[in-house]
Amino acid sequence: MNNSVINPIAYLDGNAQVIYKVQSEKEIFLIIKIDSQSATCPSCHSGSSHRHSRYCRNVQDLPVSECYFHFQIIVQKWFCDNPDCQKKVFTERLSWLAPYQRKTARLERVIEKIAFSTNCLTAEKVCESLHIRISHDTLLRRVKNVSFNHQASPFCRYR
Ligand SMILES: [Zn+2]
Repeated sequence: MNNSVINPIAYLDGNAQVIYKVQSEKEIFLIIKIDSQSATCPSCHSGSSHRHSRYCRNVQDLPVSECYFHFQIIVQKWFCDNPDCQKKVFTERLSWLAPYQRKTARLERVIEKIAFSTNCLTAEKVCESLHIRISHDTLLRRVKNVSFNHQASPFCRYR
């Protein structure tokens, strides 16, 4: 273990604890535990301090010092104690990591900017040079899945 590893997660989440860290010349990997004392049910919005279990997610984040940066995060599941709620168990929500996503929100924003600035093959190469691992197919899917709330142009002939 290298003690010179910095902790970029500290800026994301005050409840995050690094329990394992390893760094090589090209890669930084952490195992992080989120130690919240309570959580809010995403369905009924009532608070819960009744823990159910823990589970792991593998997440990629912004590169650090020209290193690919990724981590495994251990988050908690909670019981919803509201008898009127459909959800009996829910997973902890994190403001910086969308449910089921494998990339942090800040990395998603950077990827989206790169994907929309050029074609997907070039975007893949730009990401690779920035130590962000993503395929051109995934970049293409991102571009296709973005929905625009656009209005008809005032200059459009056929409105
Ligand atoms: Zn609930």
